[in-house]
Amino acid sequence: MAYGGPVYNEVPDTASIVIDCDAATRNLDIEMNGRPKKRATLKPRISTTNGVHELLMCPVCSNSMYPPIVQCPNGHTLCSKCKHKVNNRCPTCRHELGNIRCLALERIAESLEFSCRYQSLGCQEITRYYEKWKHEHHCRFRPYNCPYTGSVCSITGDIVSLVAHLTDDHKVDMHMGSTFNHRYVKANTLEVENATWMLTVFNCYGKYFCLHFEAFRLGTAPVYMAFLRFMGEEDEANGFGYSLEVGGSGRRQVWQGVPRSIRDGHRKVRESLDGLVIPRSLALFFSGGDHRELKLRVMGRIWKEH
Ligand SMILES: [Zn+2]
Ligand SMILES: [Zn+2]
Ligand SMILES: [Zn+2]
Ligand SMILES: [Zn+2]
Repeated sequence: MAYGGPVYNEVPDTASIVIDCDAATRNLDIEMNGRPKKRATLKPRISTTNGVHELLMCPVCSNSMYPPIVQCPNGHTLCSKCKHKVNNRCPTCRHELGNIRCLALERIAESLEFSCRYQSLGCQEITRYYEKWKHEHHCRFRPYNCPYTGSVCSITGDIVSLVAHLTDDHKVDMHMGSTFNHRYVKANTLEVENATWMLTVFNCYGKYFCLHFEAFRLGTAPVYMAFLRFMGEEDEANGFGYSLEVGGSGRRQVWQGVPRSIRDGHRKVRESLDGLVIPRSLALFFSGGDHRELKLRVMGRIWKEH
C-alpha cells in the first residue's frame, strides 16, 4: 500500500486459546438461573480466537456456524445449510449424517464473548458469539470504503488513511475551510454517461467532506449533479449542513442539504437525487459563451448545525 496509517486487513489474530468447557457451561447455568450480572469469574474472556473460530467454522462453507449445528455420529460438525450440499454424508468421515444436533458446541458458542474484529481500529465492544456478526456488520469502527468514484477502488481504511490515499493515490484536490468556489470546465459536454465526475476533499471543523460532481442521464435527460458526502458516520453527518449554488445571467439554482455519510455509496446518493441537480441545457446556459462548453461555477458553504 502506498500510504501509511492503520489500514484494516483481513488476517485474523494468530493467537489461539483453549476453551475451558466446564467453565463455559457452568457459567451458562448461572445465567439461566437469572443472575447474568458480573460474569468475570468463570467466563473465559476471549479476545484472540483463532482456535475457537476454527472449532465453530463449518468445514464445507467456511462460515461461522449458528444453531442448529449438525454433527455426524463420529462427532464431526458442519452447519445445517451445508447438510444438504453434502448429500447427508459427513464431509470428514463420509458417515451418514442423520439428524444429530451438536447442542454442546451450540451452548459453548453461546457462552463465549468475543471482542470486535475491529478492536485494533478502536472498537471496545465485547459481544456474544451469536451477536458478533450483527455487531461487526454495523460497527462504527469498521473500515470505510474509498469514496473515490471514478473507478473501482478496493482500498478501505479509517478516515485519516483514506484522506491520505485520496490525495496521494487519486491526486484529489484538498481544500481547507468551509466555503468554496469551484469551476468545472468540460469541453465535450455530450459525454454524460458517467463521463464527468470530480472529487474534491474539504477539511473544515476538524472533519473531511467530499464534494462530488458527476454527469449522468436522469431517464433520458443529461444532467450534472453536485453533492457533498461526510467522511464519517451518518449521525455525525447530520450535525452539518451545506449549500451549493450555480447561476448566470440573472438566474440562480440553489441547493441546501445535509451531507451524506460515505457509508452511503455515491451511486446511492446520486440515485436518491440528494444534491444539486442541474439539467445540461441549464448548465450550458449558466456557462455563457456559445453554450457548447461547460464552464460551471459552483459556490458552496459547509456549516455546523449545533
Ligand atoms: Zn456450512
Ligand atoms: Zn464424520
Ligand atoms: Zn465493533
Ligand atoms: Zn481509492
